[in-house]
Amino acid sequence: MTGTVTYSPAYTLVPTYECFNRCSYCNFRTAPGQSPWMALESAAKILRGLQKQGVCEILILSGEVHPRSPRRNAWFERIYQLCELALKLGFLPHTNAGPLSFAEMERLKSVNVSMGLMLEQLTPELLKTVHQHAPSKMPQLRLQQLEWAGKLQIPFTTGLLLGIGETKTDWWDTLEAIASLHQRWGHIQEVILQPHSPGSQQSFDAPAFNPHQLPEVITQAREILPSDITIQIPPNLVLDPQWLLACIEAGARDLGGISPKDEVNPDYPHLSAPKLIKILEPAGWQLVPRLPVYSQYDNWLTPQLQMAVKQWRRIRKG
Ligand code: SF4
Repeated sequence: MTGTVTYSPAYTLVPTYECFNRCSYCNFRTAPGQSPWMALESAAKILRGLQKQGVCEILILSGEVHPRSPRRNAWFERIYQLCELALKLGFLPHTNAGPLSFAEMERLKSVNVSMGLMLEQLTPELLKTVHQHAPSKMPQLRLQQLEWAGKLQIPFTTGLLLGIGETKTDWWDTLEAIASLHQRWGHIQEVILQPHSPGSQQSFDAPAFNPHQLPEVITQAREILPSDITIQIPPNLVLDPQWLLACIEAGARDLGGISPKDEVNPDYPHLSAPKLIKILEPAGWQLVPRLPVYSQYDNWLTPQLQMAVKQWRRIRKG
């Protein structure tokens, strides 16, 4: 074998699709008030059905209620309760719910083994185009989230969205910003390089990011990012197996959460683990499941979370 490539057996719970931002490439959102919030009973039913199926990570992925909305507290509480429920039923939660206040992040730390937020791109130029109606995508706001995650010792996943109108220099600037935050706090466990892949619901009229450019971005990212940050690529967005392998050769070592549905890119279903193995093994790569927290961060977690993680590490070894 040449080496190992990891993935996280996952399931995505969506507390709500409503979002006050309107990114023009979005294939996820509904308008505020147009999407019923996920009830705890429905979530419990889904989660019970997933027990003993090898699913470890529950990704809580939510659209955003405005920070000053009178509904913000109820929205946040629902997210917190969904994390609690997932933990109680034996899963490891990872939340990505857009920018949060410091107090919200601190509270979610107690029920999440890791959290995530895409930095996307650092250039403010995109606020004139794809992010014109998306105040949450202000680069400074997102940088601050990454900073707070470091301060709070939250193992963190971030990443770049490629092909939304940025330049090559923007890629390197964004990667350098992530690298310097990690040098300060040591909390970035993975960086996702996500190629823009047009979906049926978006208004942004632009072609998909050319997958043939991805290996070049990965090679350069590997140069810029500290070696303890893993580079992740979403395999459902790199449709040609040869290019998926080229991305791995270039330095990507993780395929992210593999769940039945990619909620952010619903037009691009995930390949199952056995299908991925069929692509990887002939080229000498072994596909290995991982937890949503990397072991070097286990001691950052609360005692309750550490216990849950320990159990999963034992299962994975057995
Ligand atoms: S991409 Fe995210 S932040 Fe932007 S509109 Fe869609 S759900 Fe909201």
